[in-house]
This record gives sequence, structure tokens and C-alpha cells, in this order.
Amino acid sequence: MKAENAFPRAVPTGRVSVYFHIPFCTRKCAYCDFYSVPLADNPAGTRSAPQTVLEAEIRQFDYYLEQWRPSVIPTIYIGGGTPSVIPPEMLRKFLEEITRRLPAPPGEFTIEANPESLTREFLSVCAASGLTRISLGLQSFDPRCLQALGRYATPEDVQRALHLTDRFWKGELSLDLMYGIPGQTFRAALADAAQALEHSPGHISLYALTPEEGTPLYNRLQAGETPAINENRQEFIRAKVHRFLLERGYENYEISSYALPGKQCRHNTAYWKLEPYIGIGPAAVSTLPAAAGPVRLSGIRDMSAYIQNPCLPEVEHLSARDFLADYILLGLRTSKGIDLNAFFRVFHLDFPRTFSRLVHKNRQFIAKISNNDTAFTLTGRGRRVLNTILVDFLIELDQLKYTSPPAWPDKDKPNSGAGIS
Ligand code: SF4
Repeated sequence: MKAENAFPRAVPTGRVSVYFHIPFCTRKCAYCDFYSVPLADNPAGTRSAPQTVLEAEIRQFDYYLEQWRPSVIPTIYIGGGTPSVIPPEMLRKFLEEITRRLPAPPGEFTIEANPESLTREFLSVCAASGLTRISLGLQSFDPRCLQALGRYATPEDVQRALHLTDRFWKGELSLDLMYGIPGQTFRAALADAAQALEHSPGHISLYALTPEEGTPLYNRLQAGETPAINENRQEFIRAKVHRFLLERGYENYEISSYALPGKQCRHNTAYWKLEPYIGIGPAAVSTLPAAAGPVRLSGIRDMSAYIQNPCLPEVEHLSARDFLADYILLGLRTSKGIDLNAFFRVFHLDFPRTFSRLVHKNRQFIAKISNNDTAFTLTGRGRRVLNTILVDFLIELDQLKYTSPPAWPDKDKPNSGAGIS
């Protein structure tokens, strides 16, 4: 679909989750191309960069609230970048500006942090501002792995941050780990997972290292200066850590996400169900209902331009076919899969009948689907080959020539956005 800039005519919607992007980090990691800049760089034209960006974000939030008028904001996620690099008093005021605009406190309110900038003051501000969950980007405890990733945090920073959350954070805790790092053995990856679990996180995100094109690590790999990451080896390590986490009671409820019962991330669950959400900040993406059908709005990837005009996103009108493809793609990432009743309400399609050929072809990867089942889910192995299955879906979708406008959000079931309770 062609992107344009004319702001779409909004369709007010009941429930909307909100993401705030904080585009600053202590330093860029060697593998990352998320839109963020080192805080010390103070980008051109933004003399007091964090403050002016946060003010622009509140202006954008006001405008989007005015347009979509949500009655419930079930979850908020403040990510980045590294939100913990924002000075505590500035962060406190920003959180205050957000919360006083909410119809009610969100059921889940998450903020991301990195070890080198997590302080006791940061935790105090989070607790006092109603945050319910911290997502801490550890990646590894191993000095060689941290170095290979170009992380700013040292092993001592990682231990210090966890010591602080152990003592002073009473809310939910999620820890990020990474595998497939050059030089990482499966024993080192298991040791990382074991050390993480000593701090009783309700949630673990386990990501495969994916060096993005153009990043220093990508360039070093291309030049052969860093040993290439063997896919089989990466999968071997993943399987070891996966089993380790399952044996300790964690459910692998989404490709990269593990949680103890009741500790799943509700914000991400809403995202995987393709429920309406607002993305605030430079480079942040929203998917929202509009008069001409669902739209995807992408915030401008330029700090100075964003500050000048935070409400001028790139607008992409999603075709019925693209929207359906996204719905399937996101739903199949999760262990709950696609709810067939919700699917029918949104697309007016009988899933098993519409995709019978694909279901038959991929039957060894399908956990369950029959006339009596209420969900279409993939086995764990199926989720590992998700991209191949998705190609089959796209071929079927093209033959289907689906053009009906989806009934989205799923109005028949207003609480379908509650995620996992
Ligand atoms: S801290 Fe996170 S967002 Fe920042 S550069 Fe590293 S990986 Fe990217």
C-alpha cells in the first residue's frame, strides 16, 4: 500500500493500548538499528533533547487521544531506546503528564531499563508513578558476550541492577536474555538463564541475536572479523535454554517469551492479537481504525523533525488482505494461536474451511484444529518454521482475493483485548 501524509479520519475506539518510544540510549549496541541515539550526542537542533522530545510526545499523545477518544487504556509500555537514561525528576514529570490524561490507571504499566542506568532513584520514581512492571535488558552476565554485543553494561552493572531490583522493586520483573552470541557456548547460555532465575522474574524474553544490516557487528561478521553465527548451533543453544525454562515452570507462550502462570505480558499480548494501539514518539508505529479502514501510522525517524511536528506520521492504509495477513502472522507467534470465533467476527471467514488446503499440507506443525476447536495453534516445532508456513498463507490469501473490510476492533467481544488475565 502506498504511504501518504494526510492524517486519517479517526474512528473512536473503546480500548487502545499505548506505547511510548524513548529514543535515547547510553551508547549504541553493536547489533542494534532501533531508532535511538546516545544521550550524550544531543542531536542537532535539540539543545535539551530529552525534555523537548518528551514534551513533543505529550503533544502527540493529546492529539491521538482527542482523535480516537479511548474509554479504556488497558496497558501502557514505555520502551526504547532506554527509558532509564532519562534523569529521574524529568521522568517523574513525564509519567505524571501521562497518568493525568488516562481515563483510569492501566492494568499493566511497563517501563524498560538497562543495567548501567538503573538506579535506586529510578525505581522510586517508577513505584511512586504507578508503574507495575520493569523489563530489564540484561542480555547476558558473561563479560565476553557483553563485549561481543557492544553492550555498555559490564557484568558488575548487571549484578548491581539486579541487586537493586531485588531490594527495592516490588512490582513485576521481566528479564531479557540473548543467545547465539559469537563465542557463546550452550553452557554459558544456560548459566545466564540460571543466574537470571535467581532473581525470580515472572517473565523472561529470550531473543536470538540478529545483527541488523549496517551495524558494526553485522559489518564485522561480513568481513569475517568475527566468527559467523552458525544457525544450527544457535538453535541447539535455544533448545537447551528453552528446556531449562520449561522445567522450571515457565510457559513458552510466544516465540521469544516465557512466563510463570499469570505473568504473561498483557501489552505484547494485545499487540499479537492485533488490537488497536497507539505508538507515541519518533519512529513509533500505531495501528488504528479509521474511516477508510485500518491504518498504520509511523512516526518520523528524525528527532528534530519529530519535535517540530509530532503529529505528522507517515500513513499507510492497510488493505483487507494485508490486515488479514498481519492478523495471522501475529496470532501464530503465540501458544494460544488464532481464536477462530474472533477470527470469524472480524473477517467473516470460517478459518478451517477457508484454509483447508494449507491445514492439510502443514498438518505435522498444527497443534489443533477441528470443527470443535476454538483456536488454530501451531506446535512448538511449527512456530520454529513459522516463516515457511506464512509463505503458504500468503499464497492462499492471494488466491482468496479477500477484499471485505474487516470488522475491527472486535466489537462483539469488547473484552477480547484484555490479553491474558
Ligand atoms: S540499549 Fe537497546 S535500544 Fe539501545 S542501542 Fe542497545 S539494544 Fe539498541
